[in-house]
Amino acid sequence: MKIGILGADGRMGRTLAQEIISGRHDAEIGAAVGRHGDKEAAFRICDVMIDFTSAQACAEHALLAQQHQKPLVVGTTGLGAAEEGALLSASRKTAVFYAANMSLGVNLLLSLVEQAAAKLVPEFDIEIFEAHHRHKADAPSGTALALGRAAAKGRKVKLDEVMILDRAGQRKAGGIGISSFRGGDVVGEHTVTFAGPGERLELAHKASDRAIFARGAIKAALWLKDQPAGLYSMRDMLGV
Ligand code: NAD
Repeated sequence: MKIGILGADGRMGRTLAQEIISGRHDAEIGAAVGRHGDKEAAFRICDVMIDFTSAQACAEHALLAQQHQKPLVVGTTGLGAAEEGALLSASRKTAVFYAANMSLGVNLLLSLVEQAAAKLVPEFDIEIFEAHHRHKADAPSGTALALGRAAAKGRKVKLDEVMILDRAGQRKAGGIGISSFRGGDVVGEHTVTFAGPGERLELAHKASDRAIFARGAIKAALWLKDQPAGLYSMRDMLGV
């Protein structure tokens, strides 16, 4: 299977290329496109495209996927309503896979957090902490927001209505707090704390190698190429 890499000159794009050429997967690089590469040609010649770029570029790639009817795996985070809309509209014509975190561990964590949030009510406060390297553009991380949505789902509330990003003042009952650290070369760490009277439960994931995200994206690409048009997530692929 020929994979097209979008954002080939970035941290994730380079890791993805290394992982594909390792020969551990039933895949080869069909095209590796940076910011100024020939995207039209890449979409034409590859079987499936993987995008680790920026929110803005991702919307452009969704449109190309729609026009060329090519499966598209998106790992880019920080998407707004316009970019999510572009993915949704592409998914009416082709298979689109979106995951803010491609690691197996984080996707299991999402389901553990939902369960814990449903059980530990109402006096347990939920706080999410995430740490990433100094170059990361978006905050909170897409994974922290996904963990927040999982906790909110467990509590049967909407994250938008209970999310606390400003730590000033007393804690609001039922709030889900998210805080971020940016510095050094941290690949990605997420901790969800359930803080109750006299005890705290912490569920944490620490990524020490970007290759876990690259391997998840390749696995998604291999799975996606046989799927009909639609919008898919890690949960669809892993069945968790
Ligand atoms: P990066 O800044 O190192 O790389 C991004 C690359 O995108 C750059 O090389 C840039 O040239 C390229 N780019 C920007 N605009 C473009 C355009 N219009 N067309 C083509 N290419 C363009 O960033 P990174 O660390 O590789 O992360 C990229 C994205 O992936 C971020 O949103 C990050 O949060 C996300 N990410 C997701 C996962 C996951 O598991 N889903 C894991 C790690 C990173």
